[in-house]
Amino acid sequence: MAVGSGTITPMMAQYMELREEHPDALLFFRMGDFYELFFDDAVQAAAALDIALTKRGKHLGEDIPMCGVPVHSAEGYLLSLIRKGFRVAVCEQLEDPSEAKKRGSKSVVKRGVTRLITPGTLSEDSLLQARSDNYLAAFCTIRGSAALAWTDMSTGSFQVVSCPMTMLSPHLSRLAPKEVLISQSSTPEIEQIIEEAGCGVTHLAPTAFDSQSAEGKICSTFGVTALDAFGPLEREDIGALGAIVEYLSITQKGKLPFLQRPHKERATSLVQIDSATRKNLELIETLDGQRKGSLLSIIDRTVTGGGARLLANRLKTPLRDLETLNNRLDAVTWFGEKDKLRSQTREILAHVPDLARALGRVSLDRAGPRDLAAIRTALDAAEKMYGTLKSDAEADDITAALNQCTGHTKIIDMLHRAVRDDPPMLTRDGGFVATGYDVKLDELVALRDDTKSVIAKLQRAYIELTDIQSLKVKHNNVLGYFVETKANHADRLLNKPLSETFIHRQTTANTFRFTTVELSELETKIIKASSEALILEKFIFEALCSQIKRKAPEIHATANALAELDANSALADLAVTETWVRPELSIGAEFEITAGRHPVVEAAVRAQGAPYIPNNCDLSQEGGKSLWLLTGPNMAGKSTFLRQNAILAILAQMGSYVPAKSARIGLVSQIFSRVGASDDLARGRSTFMVEMVETAAILNQADDRALVILDEIGRGTSTFDGLSIAWATVEHLHTINNCRALFATHYHELTALSEKLERVQNATVQVKEWEGEIVFLHEVTKGSADRSYGIQVARLAGLPRAVTDRAQEVLSTLEEDARHGRPNGLVDELPLFSIEPQPLTTAPAKSPADDILDEINPDELTPKDALDLVYRLKG
Ligand code: ATP
Repeated sequence: MAVGSGTITPMMAQYMELREEHPDALLFFRMGDFYELFFDDAVQAAAALDIALTKRGKHLGEDIPMCGVPVHSAEGYLLSLIRKGFRVAVCEQLEDPSEAKKRGSKSVVKRGVTRLITPGTLSEDSLLQARSDNYLAAFCTIRGSAALAWTDMSTGSFQVVSCPMTMLSPHLSRLAPKEVLISQSSTPEIEQIIEEAGCGVTHLAPTAFDSQSAEGKICSTFGVTALDAFGPLEREDIGALGAIVEYLSITQKGKLPFLQRPHKERATSLVQIDSATRKNLELIETLDGQRKGSLLSIIDRTVTGGGARLLANRLKTPLRDLETLNNRLDAVTWFGEKDKLRSQTREILAHVPDLARALGRVSLDRAGPRDLAAIRTALDAAEKMYGTLKSDAEADDITAALNQCTGHTKIIDMLHRAVRDDPPMLTRDGGFVATGYDVKLDELVALRDDTKSVIAKLQRAYIELTDIQSLKVKHNNVLGYFVETKANHADRLLNKPLSETFIHRQTTANTFRFTTVELSELETKIIKASSEALILEKFIFEALCSQIKRKAPEIHATANALAELDANSALADLAVTETWVRPELSIGAEFEITAGRHPVVEAAVRAQGAPYIPNNCDLSQEGGKSLWLLTGPNMAGKSTFLRQNAILAILAQMGSYVPAKSARIGLVSQIFSRVGASDDLARGRSTFMVEMVETAAILNQADDRALVILDEIGRGTSTFDGLSIAWATVEHLHTINNCRALFATHYHELTALSEKLERVQNATVQVKEWEGEIVFLHEVTKGSADRSYGIQVARLAGLPRAVTDRAQEVLSTLEEDARHGRPNGLVDELPLFSIEPQPLTTAPAKSPADDILDEINPDELTPKDALDLVYRLKG
């Protein structure tokens, strides 16, 4: 490090060079057992990690700020930095410091950045969440068409979907990528959408998205000559996939992780769900961002990380593909019917480590011995699964998964023979290769660990050879290992034939000391054994990894198969224990639910010891009433009923059973939900504005296979404005969108629409009045409510008695006036509320001062003129 001003040491020069190559990342500069950070990096990292900021030497006359983290605990610090939005370039020592010394005492150890860690390119378990995917996405537009590609580098999934601009936000809210790659030439609008979706943005040069060079990159990654093997891909698909390959190569410094062959998702086979609907239905997390209380938290009974990720993906991506869904449901049914096999399956899976992620680390040369043990355990379990289920398996999905679970005997056998049962975490210190796997290694380890017995063995051999019972093999620092015999026996060794073996080295008062070729070779062997054993273990490790890499596609298929078996058996377990039913799916337009339940609310009310009241819903389109207008008191259960039916559709179309007695569902193409009120102040939208934006999106997009749920449209404005908007919305949904819909409202006037519009059905949630209080029955029946019982509910909520009593008085007066067709009589009868009405004039009259001010130009006034003007105005 530089000590005086103006000088720069070779190491600082090396640091500067590496720093310059990675301007947008913090540089973790390896120095011995620490990663050190300097200059501004140190200041930022010390603040972000709450660690001490120190200094080291001077650069151009200034102190160099420095902080550091120990290598062995670096992952925790990395995680904190990544979570805080930093990118980190990890710079390692690329040679042993002793090598550098050989080049001269002032030589600097070779260093290089081996990896760039960014939020979308994580592979370590400690940096990842076991039950969630960690996606990196790329958005590419070429001549007006656009595509979004994504990968989870830790598992190798690699997909792309056509993504017109209007679909970017819905896809981002579904996938929730941690980082999205866009071209430096992208419009600010694209960047804004990505940021609003809560994802990090990374800019790449436009060439990274060039479809022609991308084609070459992808072909060479997958070892194919043309992309046709992956099905039809558009230029923008290729550009987006290519950008991901390019970025992985940049961040992993040329080492690509194992990637599955790219798969193009067909937008037409997915149920379209926009981000507001996803949020409102609380599928993956609640409105306040918690997993607990979400639909996923209730349905997720998977026992492996891979199974949990697959289940979450299915929930996020409901399908419209009848065959795929029926196959999934067949698998769930099979597991549901076979109690014993299901519990055996779940028992086997419960001990399966994260195969996909262990394999991912192997492919990145970032694995440790425990990853190999994890692969062995998981593959063992897969074979066991095959043996347990194969003879009984019937459903296509289960048979297909089982077929992927077998065929790994060679690898399993290799790993059993090669890796110890409970290996250490790191390859660094060795000690993970099993005894008996490699004769040479066993010898080295025996020498290293068992010097005493090797020497004792040799001593016995020499005693036998010389017939001197008192002969000893000893060690000291000067001679190393030597043979020692008492002086009276020395003659025998000093003369032929034994003198050919024993070479005299030293004579002491009573003893003679000898070496032998064998002994000195043994000595050298012992010294070298330790380092050789380590080198050999590392070599064996690499060899094992390369065997695994060669089988990566097959092992990956097994990981997917285990995840499938986990997801399907978990859904079956849920269905059996919670008495859910298999939905009958069709390509028709029915929606007939008998005794449906909302799984999350059901769990909540059950926890309080109350029963959940199941409800029917029939929105079947052909000849039926496909638009229900739901009225009923506050707190009666309208929102719950609305969400319940949307959730049932999603569960059915992810391939799950549903909480109901029966469910017939014609596949839904889109699900829209507008429930609850919230503002979006960050985007400058009031509650009412948000409501209208979301309603507009629904009315503009919903097709005749959509399922729409709308809760209290028009509540955020004046009564008549709101009522009119709600009225027109119902008419539009009925006649133009012509879709299945549930519409909850407190505007009881709307119920008149059922007489005008053929497919509108009034429904209400029942309550009972008892001694002035209301009792919620939560039962949805045909018909309409006559009132909202808002004041009773307010009383239940603890509003002061004086307020609710007064409200009751006001309500009676208003109702009385309405009955007699009188205008609002409150002003006369209830003076407390009287406010002098202010007449509204559109243009206020001009004053003489206005005329004077019109005449002047302030820029031309001198201070004196200004003072005069004040006097004129005053006068
Ligand atoms: P508001 O008009 O005030 O928004 P709401 O009619 O939409 O009210 P919900 O929010 O759906 O009422 O339900 C209120 C509460 O009633 C729920 O939190 C739940 O505890 C309970 N509840 C709703 N439906 C049921 C049901 N079917 N069985 C049992 N309890 C229910």
